[in-house]
Amino acid sequence: MLKVLAKSELGQFLDKLKQEFRVVAPVRRQYGKKERVEYHPVENSEEIILDSQPDTPPKKFFLPQNERLGDELEGETDLEEGEKETLIFGVRSCDLKAVEILKPVFLDDDFTDTYFQKKLEKTVMFGLGCSSRQENCFCDSLEINPLEGKNVPVNMYDDGEKIWFAVRDKELEKFFADLPDGDAEELEEKKGKWQEEFEKTAITLDLPLPFPELKTFEAPFWHKVSANCLGCGVCTYYCPTCFCFGFFWEKHPEGIDRWRTWDSCMFPLFTKHGGGHNPRETQKQRTRQRIMHKFSYHPQNFDGVPACSGCGRCISQCPVNIDLRVILRTVEKYLKEEEGVKSSG
Ligand code: SF4
Ligand code: SF4
Repeated sequence: MLKVLAKSELGQFLDKLKQEFRVVAPVRRQYGKKERVEYHPVENSEEIILDSQPDTPPKKFFLPQNERLGDELEGETDLEEGEKETLIFGVRSCDLKAVEILKPVFLDDDFTDTYFQKKLEKTVMFGLGCSSRQENCFCDSLEINPLEGKNVPVNMYDDGEKIWFAVRDKELEKFFADLPDGDAEELEEKKGKWQEEFEKTAITLDLPLPFPELKTFEAPFWHKVSANCLGCGVCTYYCPTCFCFGFFWEKHPEGIDRWRTWDSCMFPLFTKHGGGHNPRETQKQRTRQRIMHKFSYHPQNFDGVPACSGCGRCISQCPVNIDLRVILRTVEKYLKEEEGVKSSG
């Protein structure tokens, strides 16, 4: 089913969805003087921003930054029974892929993270095909199609005036029944033009995945690529695929609550042992860990898939302009040179 909606009618359409779902979409939010576009429950359709990538990914809806895991003994989740399902409206291919990257980590057969699982089960995502490249994104270099989200019941396209909905789920068709049909050829023509623009600005990365572990670990460039790093952890906090967390216990008059909270391999204390020893004492070691985890250890464990969806947020948000694409190019060049030395030797 292909349907179209004039953007001026988005409010009425969302009202219909809100009868069944808690609707979340990218909206502009103010934090002091700083403005951010992030996924948030929608009050007014005019606040929705579909023409640029949200600053933060939707990860927080399955893996909240601070999550109460219940009291010390019971471990119940805060998710209320009977709570409406969350519908995340307009999730781009990079963030959809990121959820696919997180799934095998949290939903492993031997260990299922029920907190993540319950939240994900209560979430429906409408994909949003990108019509232009964002400043720093490179999902297409990692074999992700920016125009076509995978594993979603509905894929949307925003051409500036209209929103197109490719509906793939019979149960959701009732929400779209009153909308006019879309012309498939017209949409394909638009997608063809957007695709051409992506192809013009694509960067080619020829990365062996997983990165050969020892050779890359011992490479000489890690000091150089991490020299400016402040260890602030911003890159990991904005990343849709980073999932490290820590636990803490909070005592209050009624008992003790267990919490988990995001952590970051870029923090100096992340690996510090109780006895004072820190196996990753330097920022060079921590940067290497972040990159090796994403491009060597993760693909080793998960069928060659890197723990990066090319969203570019770590690049856009880094306060000292450290660019993951530059690091990846450095790795690529080094491994090619090493390969050349080996074959000529
Ligand atoms: S955001 Fe930049 S400076 Fe901060 S930890 Fe990440 S790479 Fe280092
Ligand atoms: S590592 Fe950077 S580009 Fe890759 S998914 Fe995380 S934030 Fe996006």
